[in-house]
Amino acid sequence: MSLSLGQIIELLEGADAADLFAEARRVRERVFGKFVFLRGVVEFSSYCRKQCLYCGLRAANASLARYRLREDQMLDAARMAVDLGMGTVVLQSGEEPDFSSDLLERVTARIKETLGAAVTLSVGDASDEALARFRRAGADRYLLKVETMDASLYAGLRPGDNLEKRLDRLEALRSHGFEVGSGVITGLPGQDAASLARDILALTALQLDMIAVGPLVAHPDTPLAGAPHGSVAVCLRALAILRLLNPLANIPATSALQALAPDGRARGLRAGCNVIMPSLTPQDVRGRYAIYPGKNIDPGIEKNIAGVKSVIRAEGLIPSDAPGPSPRRLHEPGSPPRGAVGHHAAGPA
Ligand code: SF4
Repeated sequence: MSLSLGQIIELLEGADAADLFAEARRVRERVFGKFVFLRGVVEFSSYCRKQCLYCGLRAANASLARYRLREDQMLDAARMAVDLGMGTVVLQSGEEPDFSSDLLERVTARIKETLGAAVTLSVGDASDEALARFRRAGADRYLLKVETMDASLYAGLRPGDNLEKRLDRLEALRSHGFEVGSGVITGLPGQDAASLARDILALTALQLDMIAVGPLVAHPDTPLAGAPHGSVAVCLRALAILRLLNPLANIPATSALQALAPDGRARGLRAGCNVIMPSLTPQDVRGRYAIYPGKNIDPGIEKNIAGVKSVIRAEGLIPSDAPGPSPRRLHEPGSPPRGAVGHHAAGPA
């Protein structure tokens, strides 16, 4: 399917939202069946050298009590993810000032060898040498969000960075053989429907394997303190449009949706999402991975995951513990697979 910029703007502004969501669910079901992939996120370090204006982990946020997990803690969290029915472990952090490729390489290799789960990395910019090492260690996927495809917004929100460099890194990830994920924030100050519509077309043109979109949740300890939060409704419409334009992409119902609406995950599924990524970060530090307020404020890991599975079932869908690779890699573009591919149901939490 293709949509013009004007059609996307109309849909973002609320035209035919019920039809849009129904069609997005139909497209999801055609590719993924009833299955929703669970990915366990291990947020192993909250240190970051960057200064993104919207993010609570920015280096200038002196009020954040930072933490860094030890290798054994990372592996324990990964094991717990698999035990609780997740076929993918996502290793995530801020952009570490003392980034250790060795650590990530070792942990990735151990997860692949001992747990058999797919591994996604989400650790910001890394050198080509580091990327090659991660691939050799077995990392399957890499998530590197752009947050906005508007070059001037990007430069303002991510001091010291530019969009062109970020897009180059996405190309580098692809050339190293990763399944590549990216995404944007909706509701950024200065973003309007036309700018978000252009983001949607630009993300689609990248032919991504994963697309993550969440609303801005303004953090009180950042320069965006007091900015209005992004609209949940607009974010859901953006997700549904992306599903129509990218039938083969894995698209998560993001935790930022849940931070702004108690039924955010369920609404994400109703908008055509096919992935949920609960945090497996250990209980004593998980609340400190505060990229935005409300992140990881939940009743505890097991209860949270049991809750996620019941949300999925309540939508008539099935939680899957399969690794859930990118259907784009399995099928030629334009030939969506019929029914679900490589899925199996996760047991009760
Ligand atoms: S968005 Fe990422 S790179 Fe930017 S401050 Fe937050 S953790 Fe660091």
